[in-house]
Amino acid sequence: MNVRGVDGYDSVIKSIEELKKRKVAVTIAYTVNPWNRREDYTHILGIVKRYAIGLRTVIYEDAKVFNVDFKGRVLCDIPDLMKNDLEQKFVLLYKKWLEGMKIPCMSIFDNTFIMPNGDVRLCHGSEVVLGNLSKELFDSIWTSKKTKRILKQHILCNKCYTYCHRKFDISILNILKFLPTFILEKLFKGDVKLIIDEIKRKESVPSR
Ligand code: SF4
Repeated sequence: MNVRGVDGYDSVIKSIEELKKRKVAVTIAYTVNPWNRREDYTHILGIVKRYAIGLRTVIYEDAKVFNVDFKGRVLCDIPDLMKNDLEQKFVLLYKKWLEGMKIPCMSIFDNTFIMPNGDVRLCHGSEVVLGNLSKELFDSIWTSKKTKRILKQHILCNKCYTYCHRKFDISILNILKFLPTFILEKLFKGDVKLIIDEIKRKESVPSR
């Protein structure tokens, strides 16, 4: 059975067993992609349960940095199988994002992405370069006027749905959902009200 296109399933299982023997906390990541089926996710849930390990559910992203051949978006038919509340919201909002929902990008104010050549990029989804570590210290790049201007310009970028960025954005709104909407709309841009409505609507549905 293939893992990331390589016949490495048995090795992954062996690694999990070995790490568990050594009492290491293990989390695996499952990427919803064009080649996986719903049954694959059910299988992974079985492994997670059997070995009592963590699970992250990531969605396939065709940003250039991932160097993937397939360009396009995928369907997520697994939300009802998901156990983790925040990850489920991340997957449910993906459909709305595909339909055009503008999710404010706040993660770029918290994390960045460094390339092997020292380029400090805005994020995983964009090729915008904030500076290079061979020429400047990270702090000076991160606090520069140029970086501040670029960050502000990209709050409504909405170009990607990379796990490391967009789950962060959803988690912020999930935490702040009890604040009055007009305050959130002042603080953030995009379809903040719609996003909060979706988060709350999901919570009003009794879990299985
Ligand atoms: S939505 Fe955010 S993380 Fe994605 S490409 Fe745009 S700025 Fe980067």
